[in-house]
Amino acid sequence: MTALEFDKSQPIKRTGGPAPRSGSFRPRTVCVVDTDTGFSEMSTRLAGLGYTIIDGRNGLPDGEFWAVIISSAVDPDLELAKDCAKKHHTVLVAEEPTFELRLAAARAGVEAVIWPPIEMVELGGWLGDFHDREEPVYEILIIDDDELAGHAHALALEQAGLRAHVITDPTKAVDTLDELNPDLVLLDMHMPGVNGIEIAKIIRQEHHHLTLPILFLSSERDETRQQEARQVGGDDFISKPVDGQTLARLVKIRANRARKLKQIAERDGLTGLLDHVRFKERLNAELIRSQRSGTPLSLCLIDIDHFKRVNDTHGHQAGDRVIQTLAHSLTGALRRSDVIGRYGGEEFAVILLDTELDAAATVINRIREAFSLLDFHAGEAAFSCTMSAGIAAAHKSDTTEAIIGRADDALYAAKHQGRDRVECEEEPKRPSVLKSGTRHAS
Ligand code: GH3
Ligand code: MG
Ligand code: MG
Repeated sequence: MTALEFDKSQPIKRTGGPAPRSGSFRPRTVCVVDTDTGFSEMSTRLAGLGYTIIDGRNGLPDGEFWAVIISSAVDPDLELAKDCAKKHHTVLVAEEPTFELRLAAARAGVEAVIWPPIEMVELGGWLGDFHDREEPVYEILIIDDDELAGHAHALALEQAGLRAHVITDPTKAVDTLDELNPDLVLLDMHMPGVNGIEIAKIIRQEHHHLTLPILFLSSERDETRQQEARQVGGDDFISKPVDGQTLARLVKIRANRARKLKQIAERDGLTGLLDHVRFKERLNAELIRSQRSGTPLSLCLIDIDHFKRVNDTHGHQAGDRVIQTLAHSLTGALRRSDVIGRYGGEEFAVILLDTELDAAATVINRIREAFSLLDFHAGEAAFSCTMSAGIAAAHKSDTTEAIIGRADDALYAAKHQGRDRVECEEEPKRPSVLKSGTRHAS
């Protein structure tokens, strides 16, 4: 099948194009080149941040890894660091961060230099930063009744590294939007039965689509019509015919800007995670999607244990660093497709897509365990923290409030039963003990 042929039984068609570099998973294998003690300490920290560790104590192994952490204790001349930095994100742990060493690191192409005592939030911040530097993949929805034109545009976008989906039936626009959650819509102005302006009005009827960029593709030269389209929130007009490269450039610029604005508007300032309101919106959308497709979904609520004591003993700033570190741990450990939110002060919420209750409990329990092993510093003092979690799985006719209520009950049970544990919602047929540290709510 060529790019310009399509299967009409499929209303949405992904026309191919490059997959994200890490698939639906975040790249999270990190090689550690350090002394025995350094390796063991760094492994605990990286596990706490959700990363998988590869042993580089005997030199760089052949396997696949995404970043390297090298200690100046084993690579004082930075010979190895220089090699690593050509292929991987590289962090140097400097025993003593002298100007000379930092200059040598800069010349070796090392991206980050850290030194003891290693702050978890700094290490997590660097790894998160490396993720952000990966080329983002934008999803574009093209709505055009002209199949040939739609697919020609899709091809042009995909050649520029964007992901394009085409629908030729405008009545499917809203359902498709909910399913794809695209970064931008490219909308043909003239379609039989319903025109582009009307489709844009329908899209804008939903609150969460108010900021979605809409670009009109049109041969429309009439100023009044263009004005009308702008009034319904059309971001721009692209005159047909348009060459592929120009189209891709215009779309990319707007998708990029829209994503940045969305980040600022919807994300919590301290952690960069979805804020409470947006998280609930996503939960609602994901519940509908899961009910429609029949795929499982689990919701997890997480709360840091005795957090008030952390603030009282070590200060509010140390408390903030713990919150940020747990945010890094969740983003490092979970799949790119999972949805993570800061639900409240020291509370987090996670939607694990396509995941049954048991599998969700295993993943969250691993995060709980690794988080409890992390060391935090405040002045001279070192301390650790634990978290509790409650998990519920989506039912057929679930509502957002109902599933949150069940996860919250399970979280309450985890707290009640001694904290530092993961509890699942009660289910009559399930055994009462799932695994060490993970029990069903009773
Ligand atoms: P539990 O184990 O029952 O959850 O006990 P807790 O002390 O964690 O719970 P509690 O709800 O009593 O206290 C939560 C504390 O979290 C109180 C509040 O001051 C603090 N907190 C909320 N948001 C932030 C924040 O952004 N930064 C810091 N440092 N503290 C915060
Ligand atoms: Mg709380
Ligand atoms: Mg708490």
